[in-house]
Order: sequence, then structure tokens, then C-alpha cells
Amino acid sequence: MLSMTLDRPRTRLRPVRKPNPPSPGPGQILLRVRACGVCRTDLHVVDGELTEAKQPVVPGHEIIGIVKALGQGAARFSVGARVGVPWLGWTCGECEYCRSGRENLCGRARFTGYQIDGGYADYAVADEHFCFAIPPGFGDAEAAPLMCAGLIGYRALRLAGDARRLGLYGFGAAAHIAAQVARYRGQQVFAFTKPGDAKGQEFARSLGASWAGGSDEAPPEPLDAALIFAPVGALVPAALSATAKGGIVVCAGIHMSDIPSFPYKILWEERVLRSVANLTRQDGEEFLSLAAQVPVRTTVLRFPLEEANTALDQLRAGSFEGAAVLTP
Ligand SMILES: [Zn+2]
Ligand SMILES: [Zn+2]
Repeated sequence: MLSMTLDRPRTRLRPVRKPNPPSPGPGQILLRVRACGVCRTDLHVVDGELTEAKQPVVPGHEIIGIVKALGQGAARFSVGARVGVPWLGWTCGECEYCRSGRENLCGRARFTGYQIDGGYADYAVADEHFCFAIPPGFGDAEAAPLMCAGLIGYRALRLAGDARRLGLYGFGAAAHIAAQVARYRGQQVFAFTKPGDAKGQEFARSLGASWAGGSDEAPPEPLDAALIFAPVGALVPAALSATAKGGIVVCAGIHMSDIPSFPYKILWEERVLRSVANLTRQDGEEFLSLAAQVPVRTTVLRFPLEEANTALDQLRAGSFEGAAVLTP
């Protein structure tokens, strides 16, 4: 098997070839990877901004694969089934968070492509309890971005409540899916890109945004909620300033540069500022069924697995619309 492996942070991924794929342990399944999305979180792992990665690690937590073998006791999926593997790879099931429907906050959780080898490979092993059946209407590459960009965007949308006017800051993989779900739910979408990114703004309008502009611009009307997908702390005061009284600003990324200080008056009047961490399995089930109903159409740019470094470079440079996907 081939994997693109990170030996230590701030180095290039290295192709590693082994004669055999790993064997699935108890409760695990072995997948032949068909596609794996490239997420901004992978960049944070590679760049060492997330510090708890195992070493070496195979990144990638938006895996679509076909079940090739079942570990002892694994019975949720049959050999040949198509499944998705998300970021949440394992939880303890016993702590106060796990027992109160908040397994996304489990202190012992392990994450795919971070503490568990992920999908930048042609084979991967996953705990079957954290995998999802993938609705048939999606191609393999098209389904991959649903596993994180889609799922985290959905959780962020959910936590933003029933905002009528919704702002999306950073119009990448997550926002391009969230915009479609929000439109389906009857919300009005305002897209904020890097200032001057005319192509990104046009892309946002093509997905139903009623307004698109730079993150330094004020929207034509105040927002009821804003989701921040770009890892830029300065967007927090910008989004709060664009939000109406009682509005909600959700930081949807796992890492962000420091938030500059801001006057209390832009938070006052019951504005809410919160973050989103990880996902629960229930988010996944809800989102996948909604994504099939909408139906969400993802825009993907395919890279051969061996070109994972190029895909990461292009994501860092922001040089494409939608989501990058590796295909073995
Ligand atoms: Zn737990
Ligand atoms: Zn991700």
C-alpha cells in the first residue's frame, strides 16, 4: 500500500510503500480508499499549529472507501459497502460529555488523520462505529468534502440557530456546502471573501449568495448570524460589527490566529460569540440525509494521491474554488 506520511511537523509529506495493507482490529474495518478530501485542518497538522498529532501520521479525515475486510466483531457494514470516515475517530463513551450527547468534547477522543492514520493512502482502517453510510447520489470524490467541510459547516449552521440573514466568512470548502444547505432552509446568504477576490465572490453568487464582497466590507443589511471559516482572528470583530442585536457569531475552525481586542459595544446587545468543536455522530447522520435531500453539489479539484503536497500548497495559497480531493 501507499501512504503519504508526515514524519514531523513542517516537513513535506513522504510517500511510504508497504507490501500489505494494515489488518483491521476488533470493531474495525479495512477500507480501500476511493477518495480523501484535503481539509484546512490537515494544513494546521502539517504546519504544527495543532500539536497533538502522532508521529509519523498519515493525514486525511474526509475518507470515502469501500469495505474490504472486517475486524473481529465488526458487523455494521458488509464487505463491498461504501462508507465515509470523518474527523471524530473514537470516543470513550463513558465521560460526562459522551454521556450527555456531546461526544465531540470527549477528553479522550481520538481523531482521524491526527491520532489515527487517515486517508492520504490507498488503504485505511477505521472504527466501524464512527463511519457513515454514504448516500448513493454522490460520486466518491464529490462525497469526500461532506465528511468534514460539510459536517462542520452543518454543525456551525445548527448552532447559529434560525438566522434569516446569514454571513459566511471565508468562502472555501465548508462555506460552499453551507451556502447550499442554508439556501435550502430558506436563509439568505451573504458571502465574505478575501478583499478583491472577485472569482471567489462570483463562485459564492453562483451558489445562491444574494451578496458577496470582501471581508473588509459591510453587508447591505445587518446579519442575524455569521459563520467564520477562515482561520483569521481579525474576522471576529469584523463579523460582530456586521451582526444585528441578538445575533450569533460562530467560529467554525479548529485553529485561528489571535483575536484582536475589540470594544465591548460590538458584543453588547446580546450578541453571542461561540466556537464549534469537532462533530457528533448524530450531526453526521442528520447532515448526510439533509445533503442528499438538498441535494448538495460539491465542487471538487482532484489530485492524484502522490500529489498531496501540491494539493496542500494550493489550499494554503487559496488558489482554487471548492474542495481539493486526493484519489489513489
Ligand atoms: Zn468521552
Ligand atoms: Zn476537516
